[in-house]
Amino acid sequence: MNRKVIIIGSGPAGLTSAIYTARANLKPLVFEGQQPGGQLTITTEVENFPGFPEGISGPDLMDLLREQAKRFGAETVFKQITKVDFSQRPFKLWAGDEMHTSASVIISTGASARWLGLESEQRLMGYGVSACATCDGFFYRDKKVLVVGGGDSAAEEATFLTKFASEVWLVHRRDELRASKIMRKRVFDHPKINVHWNSVISEVLGSTETGVTGVVLQDTSTGETREDSCDGVFLAIGHVPNTQIFQDQIEMDKKGYIITKEDRSLTSQAGIFACGDVQDHIYRQAITAAGSGCMAAIDAERFLES
Ligand code: NAP
Repeated sequence: MNRKVIIIGSGPAGLTSAIYTARANLKPLVFEGQQPGGQLTITTEVENFPGFPEGISGPDLMDLLREQAKRFGAETVFKQITKVDFSQRPFKLWAGDEMHTSASVIISTGASARWLGLESEQRLMGYGVSACATCDGFFYRDKKVLVVGGGDSAAEEATFLTKFASEVWLVHRRDELRASKIMRKRVFDHPKINVHWNSVISEVLGSTETGVTGVVLQDTSTGETREDSCDGVFLAIGHVPNTQIFQDQIEMDKKGYIITKEDRSLTSQAGIFACGDVQDHIYRQAITAAGSGCMAAIDAERFLES
């Protein structure tokens, strides 16, 4: 069946575009992808999404958005789009061997955690190296952990890990945190959190038998190295957009973010729209993603009408 609109991704952007396109009677099909519900499903409390004065857990918020989209007739499937052909209409999309066609597509594939790129980090992933405190923090009861990064994510992960760990050290490459004032204050005020300033991890120590036993830290100003013992390393150094399958199909910037027309969701290809973190490296909030999902839905609706 040729669809009017297919939505790729199911974070706040994708599901909001599903709510709007479903209400416009466009019967959207949502491919939920590898991480149904997106990045909010691996976060703890969401305190800044309007309408929830007491906060709401990330997974609960995403379940509500999905339910709301389905109520108006959106269809959601737990499949991942692995290949696209946007060169002619209707656009072609594949989930493995299964091909789908659509008159318009909304891309909301979001972004994924960035890694340091060390061999030892990759080898010890799942053996003490993680990019998700919410998922793995529980294993570090009364242990010492390191969190790499200086932004809001690092501050949030470090604060969350104090629930379990005996000691949390932030490892930051500069001498000041990028995190917002309120998050910085939480870090500095917490008796369990300390900071290794001007430091980067040059190697993660340990084996798949022992798990992580420590790290080699390099001072970014002097180049000197030192070892520090720890039981876990959590990466919180930002994200990379999930746009690999769109290479050569639509315009992207040099970091791989999809380029959208100023103040719109239009991409370089008519009929293909993008919203959320896949095209936003500035705000990257659940609420801005949801807002841009609404824009993409309205843009798609207007495109289909014309
Ligand atoms: P971010 O703001 O881009 O911060 C990434 C941090 O990682 C920076 O401190 C950066 O250092 C460091 N970094 C990057 N690459 C590195 C490398 N190769 N080695 C060592 N350090 C590296 O990313 P984020 O913290 O994930 O936040 C992203 C967005 O989400 C922001 O807009 C943030 O406000 C938002 N957010 C909000 C909340 C909240 O409000 N509760 C929670 C999480 C995230 P430099 O500072 O030196 O560049």
